Amino acid sequence: MCVLAVSKQQPIEAIRALADLGQRAFGENYVKEAVEKKASLPDPDLVWHLIGPLQSNKCAVAARTFDWIQSVDREKIVPLLARHRAGLPPLDVLIQVNIDDEDSKSGVAPDGIAALAASIVSHPELRLRGLMAIPAPRSIDDRRAAFRHMRDLFDRLAREYAHIDTLSLGMSDDFDIAIAEGANLVRVGSALFGARGRT
Ligand SMILES: *Cc1c(COP(=O)(O)O)cnc(C)c1O
Repeated sequence: MCVLAVSKQQPIEAIRALADLGQRAFGENYVKEAVEKKASLPDPDLVWHLIGPLQSNKCAVAARTFDWIQSVDREKIVPLLARHRAGLPPLDVLIQVNIDDEDSKSGVAPDGIAALAASIVSHPELRLRGLMAIPAPRSIDDRRAAFRHMRDLFDRLAREYAHIDTLSLGMSDDFDIAIAEGANLVRVGSALFGARGRT
């Protein structure tokens, strides 16, 4: 189980305090904010995940800044990430799935996962590790159903490819349900740090 500490909009001192307690994995939504935080916390043991939407024009910097990108959701960005990762260890990636078919949300539709996965694994600079989703903020029962659907999609992917070991689901208010439904990476922000926006 990996607890990803979602450190977006949190002050450097709070992140450092958590790192001093042994937390290693941190999640950020914005490339620029992550670049600045990494510069302030140049600890090679820390592992940085991008969990926010990724624009094409940010791929070059993102590929060299993060250890993981959880928000790969379209084929267009795959060769860009691969090209800019050249010369570094493989970039771990998750496919973000729009599990509740929301207009507003990033993520590939479930029936687009196979093509996107094939594109990712064709690049040795990238290592496909699994799936990520942010269910719609509906009732707990609806979210549980979305987590179950994700678990099913994850199991299918794991039968196709090696190295598929990460299912990223659940945030501060539903990580317990996500874990019960098979998540092995939870993204927890406010429950660890308190409310955001104190930078
Ligand atoms: C902000 C964010 C989180 C953390 O949310 P909390 O409710 O503060 O735990 C998790 N995942 C993603 C993708 C986020 O943008």
